[in-house]
Amino acid sequence: MTNDYTRAADAIRSAGTVVASTGAGISTESGIPDFRSEGGIWETYPPEEYASIEAFTADPAKVWGMWRELGQQFDGCKPNPGHAALAQLEEAGHLAAIITQNVDNLHQEAGSRTVIEYHGNSRHVRCMTCGHTQPINPEIYASGTPFCVCGGVFKPDVVMFGEMIPPKAMLQAEAYARSADTVIIVGTSAQVYPAAELPYTAKKRGAFIIEANIEETDFTRDITDVFLQGKAGETLPNLAEAVLK
Ligand code: NAD
Ligand code: ZN
Repeated sequence: MTNDYTRAADAIRSAGTVVASTGAGISTESGIPDFRSEGGIWETYPPEEYASIEAFTADPAKVWGMWRELGQQFDGCKPNPGHAALAQLEEAGHLAAIITQNVDNLHQEAGSRTVIEYHGNSRHVRCMTCGHTQPINPEIYASGTPFCVCGGVFKPDVVMFGEMIPPKAMLQAEAYARSADTVIIVGTSAQVYPAAELPYTAKKRGAFIIEANIEETDFTRDITDVFLQGKAGETLPNLAEAVLK
């Protein structure tokens, strides 16, 4: 174990560019369930009924019902030591960017500055007709289906199944994946594409891959160089300490 942290810390310290790729698992210790684990969001809200753009278009009020509940859950949640450790690495000049699949805003709340939101941010809405985006507010929350001034339907500014990744986030994420010498993958099941492709892109170009998860994933078997098994709220602070000591 100690040896693993030393190898991971060396790979971070010696890299020109370090990039983190995070998923729902980094936020479970903040009280936000992930999707696939037991007790995850999909046990209450089956994805075929709630997670696709077709489901949203067919019944926006129903899908908004889920996002309202998730939003209230997010409101009460704070970043955990895993988020803090990544912010600390960035602050110390050892992390160029975080590419996150999460929509909970917790990296920003922890103080991370370069955060690429691959799947959007649930604290914003986007008009399906004119594309206008704005922060969510109590008025939007109060209506069953919220509408933009142009008359279009507001949808949570998150990427649903069947939608494109926001082009700017996609380009930035790919550029970071191509330039990374070391990648830190945290709490992602490697099931959601194209997000799961990014570490493979980096590995093909010779990047060193550190993975932090409570269980092994396809990454572990395919590309991981050092696997830090355990809760991200414990492994990432240990890693940051090993880098910064
Ligand atoms: P996932 O639910 O598919 O996988 C979560 C992974 O995290 C699993 O491999 C699990 O073993 C691991 N994990 C759970 N708790 C952990 C912990 N404490 N420390 C380390 N690892 C832990 O999540 P995903 O791969 O991110 O894909 C799900 C999709 O759902 C993403 O696209 C994301 O946008 C979305 N989502 C976001 C949030 C959020 O914003 N917090 C929550 C749920 C889902
Ligand atoms: Zn509009």
